[in-house]
Amino acid sequence: MTTGIVFAQAYLRHEQSPTHPERSERLAYTMDQLTEEGIFDIPEISLIEPRKATRSEILAVHDAAYVGFLEEASVTGGMIDYDTMIPHGLIGDALLAAGGAVTAVDAVLDQDVRNAFVLCRPPGHHAGCAHGGGFCYLNNVAIAVRQFQRRGMKRVMILDWDAHHGNGTQEIFEDDPSVLFCSVHQFPFYPGSGQIDEIGTGEGTGYTVNMPVPGGSSDQVYTYLLQEIIMPLAEEFQPDCIVISAGQDNHFTDPLTGLALTARGYASMMQEICILADSICLGRLVVILEGGYSVEGGLPYTNLGIIAAMAGLDISAIREPDTLLDLLHRSVSDTALSRVIKTTGELKQMLAPYWSCFR
Ligand SMILES: [Zn+2]
Repeated sequence: MTTGIVFAQAYLRHEQSPTHPERSERLAYTMDQLTEEGIFDIPEISLIEPRKATRSEILAVHDAAYVGFLEEASVTGGMIDYDTMIPHGLIGDALLAAGGAVTAVDAVLDQDVRNAFVLCRPPGHHAGCAHGGGFCYLNNVAIAVRQFQRRGMKRVMILDWDAHHGNGTQEIFEDDPSVLFCSVHQFPFYPGSGQIDEIGTGEGTGYTVNMPVPGGSSDQVYTYLLQEIIMPLAEEFQPDCIVISAGQDNHFTDPLTGLALTARGYASMMQEICILADSICLGRLVVILEGGYSVEGGLPYTNLGIIAAMAGLDISAIREPDTLLDLLHRSVSDTALSRVIKTTGELKQMLAPYWSCFR
């Protein structure tokens, strides 16, 4: 079976302004790179055309009044915050991004593909039940989770590795024990949430897991968290499927953030998660693009690395141009890992009442 790439030319349509960090060039450069590398010519990859999400698929996550607001503002123009304007026609583009997430879930469950990567815009993880924000309007990942559950999957694990905390996704699932939400993000940073003591509410207590990391955190830090927290949790939770909020703004060239991942680091992380998915949930995995604003230096290479890993291709040649390596050395913090080891100990103590793997 193949890896599906869900993409439509219409994903380039949404534009707040041509100089906004979340602009159509992000995907245009990625698609050029993938085409140049011959990704669409190899038998392990299939390109999938998304459909728009339906009203009931959106309302499984969002308030009707908020959806109504987006629909009206898409006619008149409007704004959510200074970084999140509502241009004319927004709702159609947001529905196609959310629909890409649903299309990917269906393709995996129908066994048309082994796993799928949704290369969509606009992103979604800052959008909550009744609000947007941080370039996000509809929560694509949350809509994918509810589609998995609508089709019979009971437990869903979300890994949000975007550099920013997925506050919208956390809010949507914080009281829901059927969804394990794990987030690794730079902290302190926008949107300000995502500390280790945010572990969910009510019946969902223990099913929200936040791993804040300092600026300068490198591939090594992410590998450590994967082994110490994410893998043990997944083994114990035994999800029926995994959804990834894949923000590529952890890359060392990203202009909005201060982390230090490499394209190869992303590829290795994805490879580990594919092995995990194979061992616990029949390989069922949907990956959905969130951020990533290094339009030329980072995003095309990180996306390529992720796709190569998902398709089981050789990732040893995945790397950025050599001209960027000096910047990488300047970006990595020597103290980040020791700080993360300390925080991880505290996090394990906090989660120990809910997870036997941390006792
Ligand atoms: Zn982000």
